Amino acid sequence: MSLNLAGLQKRRVFAALASSWLATGLSLAGQAASAQTTGIVGLRQVAGASAQNQPSGPVYAGVPRLDNGVDRAQLSFALSAPVHATSFVLAAPDRIVVELPQVVFAGPTGEASHGKVRHRHEPTLKLGGMVTSYRFGLFEPGKSRIVIDLAGQARIVRAETVADANGIHLIVALAKTERGAFIAEARRDPQAAERDTPTAPIPQAVASSALPIVVIDPGHGGIDSGAMVRGLVEKNIVFAFARELAGKLRNSGRYKVIMTRDSDVFVALGDRVKIARDAGASLFVSIHADTVSDAAEVSGATVYTCSEHASDAEAARTAEKENQSDAAAGVESKDDNNGVSDILFDLTRQETRTYSRVFARTLVNYWQVAARLNKNPERFAGFRVLKAPDVPSVLIELGYLSNAADGTSLGSATWRDTTTGKVAAAIDAFFTAKGVLPEKDATTAQSGALLDPLPTATLK
Ligand SMILES: [Zn+2]
Repeated sequence: MSLNLAGLQKRRVFAALASSWLATGLSLAGQAASAQTTGIVGLRQVAGASAQNQPSGPVYAGVPRLDNGVDRAQLSFALSAPVHATSFVLAAPDRIVVELPQVVFAGPTGEASHGKVRHRHEPTLKLGGMVTSYRFGLFEPGKSRIVIDLAGQARIVRAETVADANGIHLIVALAKTERGAFIAEARRDPQAAERDTPTAPIPQAVASSALPIVVIDPGHGGIDSGAMVRGLVEKNIVFAFARELAGKLRNSGRYKVIMTRDSDVFVALGDRVKIARDAGASLFVSIHADTVSDAAEVSGATVYTCSEHASDAEAARTAEKENQSDAAAGVESKDDNNGVSDILFDLTRQETRTYSRVFARTLVNYWQVAARLNKNPERFAGFRVLKAPDVPSVLIELGYLSNAADGTSLGSATWRDTTTGKVAAAIDAFFTAKGVLPEKDATTAQSGALLDPLPTATLK
């Protein structure tokens, strides 16, 4: 979840929220304030003062307030209880990351950013300020994050909970610094990169399962909301789609199905690939609903496969945008070149890519019977999430949130039922053609399909 500047409207939202935790929040604020006579206090003192009274329920955060100057910036949230905050900096792209225990953030989902998709009616971040955008939300169960994108190098002046007569606030204060100092700080903490990998729960694979394993990958999640237009939030749309698709596949009894996330939590791109590889998956289907084109008339679903060279400029932009997912959550992207380059590995990858393309075509053929396709529905580019060398992988962009008709479709339960049915049928056709499913299924699965024969030795 992420938010924009604090405005009058949002203060009202916060007022409503505040009243909902009036009972616990205000009493805690009162305790913390009365325990401290010096006014502003540091986190540890507050935590110590209220150690006997740690809230057992969730901690709530109000709508953020940002003062965005050229040399100094401060982001603050009202809290229902003090929390322990830690912070670090990441370079390229330059970010500040604040880690918190799990916090329930108030307000609608949105992303504070200029030049990017955001809610209508939300004010644009002050151009020329230190902060270009920020977001916050769940990073992994029990852990929330705030990630602040920087226009230039900044140092963290403070990132802590303070309590005074105005209540309890999380304050993140930044000041401009020199490039060299920033880089040194980014490298100072060798644990940061380690700590930076979320401990994604790796679903238990059943290696001995006789059923083909299909991994369904709902894009984004947690702190990374994906695209947001007119109240439509990509991470929620794709999760609903993925869950329904997974349900259909499970109900068929033909597959072992694994979801890369089964809640609104962040999962790094590399971990999504790892889940599929560790499970020995036979197919990986990533679900997205982005908005890359600014042209509102561009619409329809697109199926992407992986390639070093993009099929076209928009495919390249889409991959670039989806590959930013880790950076959005304050995670360092690791180079996924594993250095393996023997001939057997290359043959495996070639075969994997052939199967990926075959499935992409099958999917397009099924999809077009029931729903809108992009005018150029089969494309390829360097998506990090599609880079498993041994698992056929595709990424479906369900449609463009920037297009009114697509937006309506993507929010419709009827549309979702129809299209998840078509994806499930395409998966059936793919495995039937591979000889994995019995022929009995083939008659029903292949009706309407325009499957290529499955050459495993040819690519392009
Ligand atoms: Zn996406």
